[in-house]
Amino acid sequence: MKQADYTIATLGSHTALQILKGAKDEGFKTLAICLKGRSEPYRSYNVADEIIEIEKPSDFFAIEEELIKRNVIIIPHGSFVSYLGHKSVCDIKAMHYGTKAILEWESNRTMERQWLKKSGINVPRIFETPEEINCAVIVKFHGAHGGKGYFLAHSTAEFYERFKEYTGEDDYVIQEYIVGVPIYAHYFYSRLTSELEVMGFDKRYESNADSIGRIAAKDQLDVNISTSYTITGNVPVVLRESLLPLVFEMGHSVIKTSQDLVENGLFGPFCLEMIIDKNLKFWTFEISARIVAGTNPYVNGSPYTWLRYDEPMSTGRRLARDIKEAIEANQLDKVLG
Ligand code: AMP
Repeated sequence: MKQADYTIATLGSHTALQILKGAKDEGFKTLAICLKGRSEPYRSYNVADEIIEIEKPSDFFAIEEELIKRNVIIIPHGSFVSYLGHKSVCDIKAMHYGTKAILEWESNRTMERQWLKKSGINVPRIFETPEEINCAVIVKFHGAHGGKGYFLAHSTAEFYERFKEYTGEDDYVIQEYIVGVPIYAHYFYSRLTSELEVMGFDKRYESNADSIGRIAAKDQLDVNISTSYTITGNVPVVLRESLLPLVFEMGHSVIKTSQDLVENGLFGPFCLEMIIDKNLKFWTFEISARIVAGTNPYVNGSPYTWLRYDEPMSTGRRLARDIKEAIEANQLDKVLG
């Protein structure tokens, strides 16, 4: 089959605009699957040749037969995986870009940590019980999305005080709080070329963590503000150039480990979420094994993709190009999972 026989589709949220725009730029037909009432951006920005509206995420499976008939290739993104759950994503029978099995490794905090540690990546300390807390910690609840519902504490007593608001919750992790700047590194690894690319960096714009500094410490105490990390958007960052070799090294190493964890390993877009401290030490607190929203500022390419491509290359477009090259080489299987 030739490229014109395929349609690229994703769920209308997260990074769908750049995925669909990138697919169009690479010559694919595009389809946006939108929850009812949420399709206007995909129509307005003209990125979707077609829009199908569904009532709820699980209705995806009701249209799957149709997607299969039409040679649709599904691109997973953060909201897609989070709305359906990685277990349901594994059940998808339509063509799916990327290795499904690796999504379990990123969705489960224990497995994710094992993956990072096996790759020699520096990770923040974990406290098994609140009694062990002896420094500033961040408490993260499992299934918390977009940084919502985390809290900070710096002693066992403070932990229990804050935890009162979360009575009944028992699935959480207590992680050392690293003082530094958050940096999210966006990668792309192609199974066709075996090459690793650094596509760009971002930092998140989080409420109210990014607004607390706008008022004096005294006012923060007076109005009893507690820090929260709810994501509202992403801000582009260019990294100090001397740090780039390490960024590449870390990317290679998580790819290599992933190949021991699951068949075919991780490929396509992924992201290491890090804090860089004052000694320029990198602390990775999360890995995302699919496209991240931090790539959204770069619909027209990032400074890094410009160096490599001399044409606008978003992560969405890079992904579509991977599929296009796989089709041309008669190796589509190599990018599906
Ligand atoms: P997450 O949901 O794990 O991506 O974390 C949400 C936000 O919390 C991040 O963007 C960081 O700003 C912050 N954060 C998470 N883990 C740590 C940590 N160990 N030390 C300092 N800040 C953190």
